Amino acid sequence: MGDDGPRPLLEAVGLRRAFAGNRRGQRRWAVDGVSLALHAAETVGLVGESGCGKTTLALMLLRLLTPDAGALRFDGADALALRGSDLRRFRCQVQIVLQQAQASLDPAMRIRDVLAEPLMLHGLVPGPRREEAVRAALRGVGLPAEMAGRHPHELSGGEAQRVALARALVPHPRLLVCDEPTTGLDALARQRILGLLAGLRTEIGLLLISHDLPAVRSLASRVVVLYAGRVVEAGPAADVFARPRHPYTRALIAAVPPPDPGQVVRPRPGLPGQPPEPGERPCGCAFQPRCPVAVAACRAQRPELRPLGPGHQAACHLDPPPGPADPHGPHG
Ligand code: SF4
Repeated sequence: MGDDGPRPLLEAVGLRRAFAGNRRGQRRWAVDGVSLALHAAETVGLVGESGCGKTTLALMLLRLLTPDAGALRFDGADALALRGSDLRRFRCQVQIVLQQAQASLDPAMRIRDVLAEPLMLHGLVPGPRREEAVRAALRGVGLPAEMAGRHPHELSGGEAQRVALARALVPHPRLLVCDEPTTGLDALARQRILGLLAGLRTEIGLLLISHDLPAVRSLASRVVVLYAGRVVEAGPAADVFARPRHPYTRALIAAVPPPDPGQVVRPRPGLPGQPPEPGERPCGCAFQPRCPVAVAACRAQRPELRPLGPGHQAACHLDPPPGPADPHGPHG
């Protein structure tokens, strides 16, 4: 699923990762042949239900988990071959904001130390100038300098999320992965985070992993939809949201609740039925047991990604799959 044009900042080709075998000893593929490209100053949204492989994929992109197969290039170099100082430089240039930011902050550390740690680890700012850098990092995410003396448990969820974002940004990464950055936040905190991410879009590459489809729609220029460890649809965000081609993408979009200004963003209850467990996937199309428009061929043959429009691909036997397009649309 590579792109024409300039070289991507990050390019994954056919990444696969299995975990321990199932009862029959078969390997359970959490991510099964995923390719994606992300350019500098581009925001890509990665969407799909819990368990579809998003976080496993992100960990491989960050070299925090080793793929069983596939290739990973960062700025043209083989990122899987990086060692020593090259790997440390990669880890500096590629940062992640984890889910549940508050839990990701060391409760024993003051915010000052949380933010100074990456500067020290990567040798970026000498000791005497770190306090100034910490204040600048807090200012950059709209937090007061006094917050430097607090501990994580003294922060609200939104403040903790902004501290986690500041920590990821202090090494001036070229690529930032945000894993569910709005989950659990109230409407105001969500808007603040989205505003900060919007401000970054022209500066760095951003991979936005989220259940929050309105957030993805408002920020991403391209969207990749994962189901059962595989890409089932990918394309320009405007096109995917206006004309979703895969029945799973349609179902995800149709399940977006209408906007509620006071609503706390939580993972949505999901679509009818359950995604298959890795290792228990049905023959043919993995979405077939839940698909309202499945035909006999869907049980016999797995659909491969194929082009359905400019830069737009979907893995479905039907072309186009019948069904309403974007019945009410997500609300950004
Ligand atoms: Fe549905 Fe068949 Fe398309 Fe799979 S290939 S999404 S089962 S129509």
